Amino acid sequence: LLQLYMPLHFLGFVYREIKHSLADMERMFSLLDENREIKDKPEAGTLNTQKPTIRFDHVDFGYDTNRQILFDISFDIPAGHTIAVVGQSGSGKSTLARLLFRFYDIQSGAIRINNQDIRDVTQQSLRASMGIVPQDTVLFNDSIYYNIAYGRPDATHEEVYAAARSAQIHDFIESLPNKYETIVGERGLKLSGGEKQRVAIARSILKNPAILIFDEATSALDSNSEKQIQAELKRIAQNRTTLTIAHRLSTIADADQILVMKNGRIIEQGKHTELLAANKTYARMWALQQQAQKLQLIEKHNK
Ligand code: ATP
Repeated sequence: LLQLYMPLHFLGFVYREIKHSLADMERMFSLLDENREIKDKPEAGTLNTQKPTIRFDHVDFGYDTNRQILFDISFDIPAGHTIAVVGQSGSGKSTLARLLFRFYDIQSGAIRINNQDIRDVTQQSLRASMGIVPQDTVLFNDSIYYNIAYGRPDATHEEVYAAARSAQIHDFIESLPNKYETIVGERGLKLSGGEKQRVAIARSILKNPAILIFDEATSALDSNSEKQIQAELKRIAQNRTTLTIAHRLSTIADADQILVMKNGRIIEQGKHTELLAANKTYARMWALQQQAQKLQLIEKHNK
């Protein structure tokens, strides 16, 4: 909230700094409602979020006109399905999510949800339909209750507690001296990566969005937390249209569809078993990660 009182030019700076961060999207739009570069069309309608099907249709995009980042990207996410995107760092995975959120407008092609071009609907209705579990959740310097309830400010206490229970963070909160009133964030209690992710999951459960975006943390959590969080994510992804940006292939092996990206292009697409059978980039990435996991296990064992 402090940022609301900052001078406007500084807000502009903050805006630019956090603009590229998926983690801060929702936060930014709440703080800087007036500072949007993307404007609604005067005749913009409301997004139909009933069983949303997402379609990227020959999308080209660059953050700057002199450097194209995405090239001719086309894919569909049928309603209720999960698509996972993998690829080396910088290949454009997070950019897909930012475009879906309409953080930027594309140069050519179209992004459609239920056949509505996202440029033809209000940003409010677009963003209300999406829940994001980012890599690194930025918490407000406020109570942990506020941080969860932010997913849906009109939620009742019971609903907030139920969301925290589902995200498996309720017991942890109850064990804190000030329980739900504990102040978290930079100037409060610092939460671990896993705890912050659970807060983000609780927020998303509360928001109950038709579309979910998961941006998997690059650094692995400890394997117990990781498994629990994965199980929880899987549960809340059910019956929602989901885009997962993955760094560990083991977490997405059961996705309905996997996109493999390289230098802004989709180079392979299919189910885990199909991609293994194709024996190309995905199969190589999988073999490498399996090897790395084995080495880690041996290292652990020898310690
Ligand atoms: P990672 O796995 O490391 O998160 P990624 O595949 O998600 O990578 P993106 O974040 O989508 O990659 O970035 C794709 C390309 O776009 C990169 O070359 C990056 O430098 C560039 N890029 C990302 N954000 C911006 C921005 N705000 N302005 C200019 N270029 C950007």
